[in-house]
Amino acid sequence: MPTFSDRIDGLRPSPIRTILSVVDRPGMVSFAGGLPATTMLPDWSGSFAPDLLQYGPSEGEPALRRAVAERLRALGVDAPDDRVIILSGSQQGIDLVAKLLVDPGTVTAVEQPTYLAALQVFRFYGARFTDLADPTASLAYAVPTFANPTGACMSDAARAALADACRDSGTVLFEDDPYRELAYDAVDRAPIVARMHGASWVYQGSFSKTFAPGLRLGFMTASADLFDRLVILKQAVDLHSSRLSQQIVLDAVSDGDWTDRLERLADFYRARRDDFDSLLTRYLGDLADWRRPSGGLFFWLTLRDRIDTRTLLDDAVAAGVAFMPGEEFYADEPELGTMRLNFSHSDSADADRGLAILADLIAERIAA
Ligand code: PMP
Repeated sequence: MPTFSDRIDGLRPSPIRTILSVVDRPGMVSFAGGLPATTMLPDWSGSFAPDLLQYGPSEGEPALRRAVAERLRALGVDAPDDRVIILSGSQQGIDLVAKLLVDPGTVTAVEQPTYLAALQVFRFYGARFTDLADPTASLAYAVPTFANPTGACMSDAARAALADACRDSGTVLFEDDPYRELAYDAVDRAPIVARMHGASWVYQGSFSKTFAPGLRLGFMTASADLFDRLVILKQAVDLHSSRLSQQIVLDAVSDGDWTDRLERLADFYRARRDDFDSLLTRYLGDLADWRRPSGGLFFWLTLRDRIDTRTLLDDAVAAGVAFMPGEEFYADEPELGTMRLNFSHSDSADADRGLAILADLIAERIAA
């Protein structure tokens, strides 16, 4: 059994949410919820079914949950249709998991470096960080497939080892997987949680990178011992995710074009990655080391001279170029001289101009 946070003792399902789940029955008169009059909702009947403007289920729209569950099962994840939650962005999933499992002092294993907004959430709940190999951790958070910030993808052997280690030590594995579809090379990337039968795990993904981040939609599934509590936490946070956003995403994933869309996306970003890689070689080949990522959105650079990239950023912004200093992605001891560069957003001309400026600034710093 996982160790839940102390606050979970006080967690109760919302009685209103429970009652609302029965008010749709034909002939039911409901004085229960605070539902607006259907006739007074905006009339968008040309675009959306009117009931999408009413309150909806906390777990998400059944058809979208089903579509997500099918996709996850195809990846080998144990995700029955009724064990999927639609999230208001996968960032929300990190908050829900931290609420469920992290108390002040809870030993939380992370990769170093790792996704900085996950560190922000775990830190807020009082996590004590350790590395992924630590068997005393209650929770292990990992982005094994095209990680943010490094772009790294765990080998099949590393995935198997992490699954075994978590199962042996009773550590809950939280696999955060928003970049899976943005794959540019053939690499091992089967979800780790697919190997965790009988253990405690959470898996989440996002529609931000495959579709549109402004819709704020992600999805989560979890082992049965965790799932119901995650739903109650979701109720308490925002009742449910936007039904309009969910309908828009459902239409997109149900469209026969979805698989083609993902392929076009990967082709487009693969070309950007390759172009960026050549530009890096031209401008920073003597100044930095990096590994070309097989997927995702980022190059991770280590400068040969370990200058502090946080102060470099000030000069860069003044010169019209922004990047993420690598120091921000470490739970404790940061490695100096590291930086994360996004390659998906800039076109070739902007990437060329930005990297030329950055290279000049780095060379100036080293010479100083
Ligand atoms: N996890 C990781 C590893 C991310 O990189 C991001 C976004 N950059 C998120 C979660 C959150 O994404 P969203 O809330 O848009 O789904």
